[in-house]
Amino acid sequence: MKQSKQQLIRILREIDNKSYPAYKQLKGSYDMTDFTLIIEKVQGDPFASPSMIRVEVSSKKADFPKDLYNAEEKKMALEDQLLRLFAGEIRKYSFQAKGSGKSGFMGAVMPGPEILKRTGCEISEEGAVCVRFEAGFPANGRRINSRELEKMLVQFLPKVVLHTLYYDRAKERQFKQVAELAEDQKYIREQLKAEELVAFVANGAIFPRESGVSNRPMKQAVAFQSPKSLEVTLHLPNKGEMKGMGIPQGITMIVGGGFHGKSTLLKALEAGVYNHIAGDGREYVITDDTAVKLRAEDGRSIQKVDISMFINNLPNGKDTSRFSTEDASGSTSQAANVVEAMEAGSRLFLVDEDTSATNFMIRDELMQKVVHRDMEPITPFSLRVRQLYEAADISTILVAGSSGSYFYQADYIIQMKEYQPEDITKGAKSVAKEFATTDEQVPEILLPDFSRVRTWFRKSDASDRVKMKVMGKDSISINKEIIDLRYVEQLVDTGQLAGLADIVWYIRTHCLSKNMSMTEAVNQVEALLKTSGFERICGGRVPGNLTIPRRQEIFACLNRWR
Ligand code: ADP
Ligand code: MG
Repeated sequence: MKQSKQQLIRILREIDNKSYPAYKQLKGSYDMTDFTLIIEKVQGDPFASPSMIRVEVSSKKADFPKDLYNAEEKKMALEDQLLRLFAGEIRKYSFQAKGSGKSGFMGAVMPGPEILKRTGCEISEEGAVCVRFEAGFPANGRRINSRELEKMLVQFLPKVVLHTLYYDRAKERQFKQVAELAEDQKYIREQLKAEELVAFVANGAIFPRESGVSNRPMKQAVAFQSPKSLEVTLHLPNKGEMKGMGIPQGITMIVGGGFHGKSTLLKALEAGVYNHIAGDGREYVITDDTAVKLRAEDGRSIQKVDISMFINNLPNGKDTSRFSTEDASGSTSQAANVVEAMEAGSRLFLVDEDTSATNFMIRDELMQKVVHRDMEPITPFSLRVRQLYEAADISTILVAGSSGSYFYQADYIIQMKEYQPEDITKGAKSVAKEFATTDEQVPEILLPDFSRVRTWFRKSDASDRVKMKVMGKDSISINKEIIDLRYVEQLVDTGQLAGLADIVWYIRTHCLSKNMSMTEAVNQVEALLKTSGFERICGGRVPGNLTIPRRQEIFACLNRWR
């Protein structure tokens, strides 16, 4: 039952000066005329996490033109844009109301440069707008100061809502550009498939960021310019003709001297699985959205993964077709990362020599001659990369600064020279041909089996109380068990980690307990996310700080839960 604004004010005045828990009775919905206010959760004291609030604006009042949200990609971009506007505006009112602890705090999630599906703002099919934010209910000591809360909810909030969640003609152009960019990005993603490309990098794109801690584009950066031989022309529905480098399916090697920009290009390709906002510099850098960055990750745990295509005949006789360890080496961890990425449906691997295990990547020719194959458990990635493409349709883009082994395998070789790419495929291939000395026998590839069911040492069930915590982009903790995600490099937003915590807990308690394979479990959870967002996953109240992660990161997170 919705109460009126007058009733809200009456309750507020009644509880003034009472002890803090009296705030609890505010839980409920209120008709504020311009919008509906839903107080979902009231904090226990002024120092606890702030209270959770939702605002809903009817489609009639919000009145956004239909063509700003009548396709999934446009809706997502508009949600993202409204959240940016709302978060920016409400920030101005934070702590204008006073009191102890978090009294007066008002804040919504401010998105980074990626356009992602977030619970902070959701638009319905009909165009109703829902925004979630947090507010610190004010107190003096532990006594309620509801006059201050009245200011926050009755004075400040309506100003923010009217200013940002109602369609504003003055911002018509801005909204239109957001929708058009979303359409163009969608079009490029579709073209990748149609043209058999794995990535498109527009001429003029800016890769490097301002600093290690800033996501803004570097000011004096050299803009990208495609080599003529790899240049493709796309005809975007809104922006029109656009030229850039199309990286074809197959095996692409990026070489060049140190500091010439190889890793920076690869990083931009890693980020290209997401769409970016206008002005980011990478808004027209679009990569196959199943791409996974693969690296060595010493010390991670591995659970029953079939790494036998890379590692076999261990001296201790250990079975590598169901390999488990609590403390993986560089090579085994990278082997597991490859196989798990295949299980997660990746069609493009991104590898940087800088972050790889050398013995996983190559076995040089002298070593092949001295140490016989039968004495070497590792079949390096260089011998598998071509088979992965031919047998499993998985392309690879690989940065190699010091090892020439991949010249034999690569379909395309790009050299970075002072931050600019050059196509050196022909020359490099002919040099490699002359240079070839050994021809190591490549063992046949047996694709791994993915019917694996994950198990845990400790049992948990859905009725258990669960305590989750997110530590930035580094890790999440679920009932004090830490899941280390530092090396899952395509996690870009702390909201993705918050979302992952809920998702993997749901999978563990609802799916894997029923003996579903990991693939079945992730399929089920993705279907739920698609139909009802986080509602079913969280079992009711949805916080405003969640982001839907990709399938690849859901797998990555499950795989790193010890
Ligand atoms: P590599 O992997 O080839 O050794 P990096 O990609 O790490 O080189 O780049 C080396 C440095 O050059 C980094 O500090 C990076 O920020 C800078 N850089 C890379 N690309 C550009 C560019 N397009 N314009 C300006 N600086 C760049
Ligand atoms: Mg590098």
